[in-house]
Amino acid sequence: MQKLNPDAYYKSIFTINIENLKESDIKGIIVDIDNTIVPWNDKKISDEVFNWFKNLIKEGFRLCLISNGMTKRVEYFSNQLDIPAIGTAVKPRKKAFRKALKILGLKKEKVAVIGDQIFTDVLGGNRMGFMTILVDPLNKDEFITTKIMRFIEKIVFNRGMYHD
Ligand SMILES: [Mg+2]
Repeated sequence: MQKLNPDAYYKSIFTINIENLKESDIKGIIVDIDNTIVPWNDKKISDEVFNWFKNLIKEGFRLCLISNGMTKRVEYFSNQLDIPAIGTAVKPRKKAFRKALKILGLKKEKVAVIGDQIFTDVLGGNRMGFMTILVDPLNKDEFITTKIMRFIEKIVFNRGMYHD
């Protein structure tokens, strides 16, 4: 059960406290794509998201995208943002996270994972020994399977308790 708890929870990527990450000696960030930086059914990357990544690079963080989405879609975001990416990742399995760790070239203690799902991003990140950061999903209109997972998520981690 502990592996399902994120180390930090924010409403969106934009409210994540970057200074806290630095104080925790985080040097690399693995970022989920669908419903974390864009709605799962969308391809348009907002200026805010572009600037958010730009700022992270400016602050010296190494970045990698990792998504369970199809490789072709993931490559699109990789090219647009000019950040390495791994698609068809089968999170929470470790394989893709290990690959991301290799790309970042860092020790696991220096890496944080940001994502919107407990059973893929948080569980996978915790299994790897990364810092895990949960954000709210951008689009609530999801597949029925995801909706069922959201219901189960509520049982293990009540986001509502942390909302303002
Ligand atoms: Mg996601």
